[in-house]
Formats: sequence, structure tokens, C-alpha cells
Amino acid sequence: MIRVRFAPSPTGHLHIGGARTALFNYLFARHNNGKFILRIEDTDRTRSTDEYIETIIEGMKWLKLEWDEGPFRQTDRFAVYKNYVEKLIKEGKAYYCYCSPEELEQRRKDALAQGKSPKYDGRCRNLTKIQNSIPKLIRDKIQKKNPAIRFKMPQEGQTVVDDLIRGKVVFENDQLDDLIIMRSDGTPTYNFTVVVDDVYMDITHVIRGDDHLNNTPKQIHIYKALRHEIPLFAHLPMILGSDKTRLSKRHGATSVMAYKDMGYLPDALVNYLVRLGWSCGDQEVFTREELIKHFSFENVGKSSAVFNPEKLLWLNSQYIIKSNPEELGELVIPFLENAGIIQKGQNIDRKWLSKAIKTLQERAKTLVELANSLRYYIAEDVEYDEKAKTKFLNEKSRDLLIELKDALNALSDFSALELEKVFKFIVEKHGIKLGALAQPVRVAMTGGTESPGIFEVLEILGKEKTLKRLDKAVKAITGGN
Ligand code: GLU
Repeated sequence: MIRVRFAPSPTGHLHIGGARTALFNYLFARHNNGKFILRIEDTDRTRSTDEYIETIIEGMKWLKLEWDEGPFRQTDRFAVYKNYVEKLIKEGKAYYCYCSPEELEQRRKDALAQGKSPKYDGRCRNLTKIQNSIPKLIRDKIQKKNPAIRFKMPQEGQTVVDDLIRGKVVFENDQLDDLIIMRSDGTPTYNFTVVVDDVYMDITHVIRGDDHLNNTPKQIHIYKALRHEIPLFAHLPMILGSDKTRLSKRHGATSVMAYKDMGYLPDALVNYLVRLGWSCGDQEVFTREELIKHFSFENVGKSSAVFNPEKLLWLNSQYIIKSNPEELGELVIPFLENAGIIQKGQNIDRKWLSKAIKTLQERAKTLVELANSLRYYIAEDVEYDEKAKTKFLNEKSRDLLIELKDALNALSDFSALELEKVFKFIVEKHGIKLGALAQPVRVAMTGGTESPGIFEVLEILGKEKTLKRLDKAVKAITGGN
């Protein structure tokens, strides 16, 4: 059974890169009927916070990346790591190291000055048999400190990472540091906890960003020391900004929840994220089922992907177009509230809202835009755009608006179909183009010069609001304000 995990460190929000890693894990698990595990790697207690854990979980839920097991927290598992460390010490695969940070720093500098590798020089690894035979308690006393624990890396030969995306990557073992697996304060370190957990959780495939590729040979030796089968690895290429540097805040919003707030649909973001590295012919828009069906590492590219906000926006508009208006209605309500278009908790006729949304779906690229376009449908009153007002609400249109108002007043069926007949009758009577009437009406109804078809707009506004707005427009022309 395939078992994969997403293992975020809660030292920040769930960002675009992390979400893509989570998504690839999720899709790989679903495609293979495997299990997807969520593991919070919070051993760095100074930088991890509960708030970040919450926002990561919130982001995963929003993107509907459901996990099957977890969330596990590494800080709950310190006893497990300690057991494994002790086991490695007993087997001579790890050793106590009494070198202080200051000493290490000095030796690192000296090595660099001599043009040597700055890795740990192995002082405590190479203690004599006699030194090693002194019990730890006594050694701690002599040294007046608790030791850190280092893992014995092989010092010669090569380690080959056979990556599902990059193929074979070869590392020279003499470059591998005897890394600290447990600090002198007793806290375990990343490369160690990751392996212990992957062993413990029976992870078959490690799918993560390629910023971890350099850790992989070290981790492979830890798997071997724990006598565990080595999982398969897939290191995902980096995501870059438009200037080809690593994606960061400089390139705009990187946190997943910021996209929620900007009015993106979770499925659109998922669709965009999957295309940052994965492809399936020329297809751009995928349902979740299609993604699960087609996902494999064969179609994940080796080169970095460039984050393109315009494409994401385009995809979002496509998702808005094909969404069901009732669902969009529910999604847009918080945006209407935030924009002050409706009160928090205000009741709004859902059927009417869906109808209004239907007229706007083709035009709104985000839920924020959709909410703003709904403003003139919902608000009691409209404010005119100055330019639009000067151009269309003037003496030329005044009598037409009055005539329309009277005709509409007499109309009992306020449907787009009937409204169209009234408009046609008036324009034919005066021998003018439809726009000569429709544009002033549009300004009167929406405040601006762009909107869905004018008959639909009027139908949605209803008779009362329409007449009120026509009246206001006539007064604005007459009164000049
Ligand atoms: N906790 C690591 C991170 O957030 C990921 C570790 C892994 O996937 O192996 O970068």
C-alpha cells in the first residue's frame, strides 16, 4: 500500500510551494488508492507556533486536500526519538559530542581559512577506546555539560539518490557531515525526526520540494542505520517568481489563505498549482477526478516552474464561469459582508442572488469582483461615475428616460422579454439606435457604462428599484446634480 505524507514545519502560513507539495502527495495517494498522512514538524520550538499549525490546517481544508491520518505532531513524539537515538548509540552508529558551539565555530573558520571543508572534524567521533569507556555520567561531569549526539556518516564512497523526477543524483560521502541528531538540550533535529517518522509511519514515497535534495543522502544513511527499507523519493522543482528567483513575498501574495481572501476558488488554485510542474497534454482545466485519474510522476517536469498570477486569474475566471450560481452565492456572501454591501448575517434571497450572479459570472474574475458587481443590484441607490453621467445623463436622454419610465410604470410583467419589447418600441418610434436609450438607462441603473444586458439588469432590479433609479436620473439631469 502506498503511503505518503505532507510534513510542513509550522514556522509560517501554508504557502504556494507547500500547498503544491501537499497536493502532489494527495493526488499520488488518491491515484494509487494509498494513504495520505499529515505530519506537523514542530521540533523547532522557537519558530513553530500553534497559530501557524491552525492556518496550515485551515489552508489544507480550504483546498480540500483531505488527509487520511494525522495531524501528527512531532513534539508529541519526543520519547520515540529518544529511544531511537539510544539504540543508535548502543550500536555504535551515533556518538556523544562535547564540542561547544564556540569551538565548532572557531574550527569551522580555521578550516575555511585553510581551504578545507568546513564540516565537523570528527573530534568526538575519533575518541580512543579508553576515552569511550568512561561512563557518560562521569564524562558529563568532567566536561561540565550535556553532550549533543551525532550520527556517524560513512566517510567514503558514494550515495545515489534515485529520484522519481530527477533520475540518479550522486553524492560523495566524504562531503556528508556527522550531523547532530539530538541537541545538548535533548531535542531531536530535523533530519533525524523525519526519518524516524517516515519509518514509523511506513512511508513508501517521500514527495517534497527539491530544497531538501541535499538532505536525502544523509537521511538514506539514517534509514540504513535503522535497518529500514529506503522509501522512493520525488523532489519537486522549485517555484520561481517572474524574475526567475525563488518565489517569495516580493512577487506578491504567497500564502494560500491570502488567495481565499482575494476571491479565488479553491478548485481554481488547485488546478493552477498542479500545473506548476505537472502536465497532461495541452489540457489546462481539470476536474478533481481527472487530476486523480491522470496524476503520475512521469509527467512532472525537471525544471523549475514560474508562478504566473495572470494565468491563475484566468483560471479562476474559468472556474467562476462554470460554477453553479447557487454555490457561488454562498461563497460570495462573506465578500458582500466584507465590502459592506450587506450587513453581517443579513438575510438575502438566495434564488434572487443566483439569478443576479448568473448575469455576472462571465465578467467577474474573482469573488471580490463578483461582490462589487453585485453592489448595484443590492444597494438601495447608485452613485454615478462622473464621466458616464456627463456623457449619458443629459438633456438628450432626459425625455427618453421619462418616456421609458412611464411605459415601464404600466408594465405588469417585468421580465427581460417584455422589457425588450418596450425598449424596441421606443427606439423604433424615435428612429434611434438601441444604445441611445440603453446607455443612459445603464448609467441610471448601475452608475457606470458596463453591465450585463440591460433587460436582464432591469428584471433583476425589479420594477420598484428601476422606476426609482429612472426618477433619480431624470432629477439629476433636471437639477444638474
Ligand atoms: N518539514 C519540512 C519542511 O517543511 C519537510 C520535510 C520533508 O518533507 O521531508 O520543509
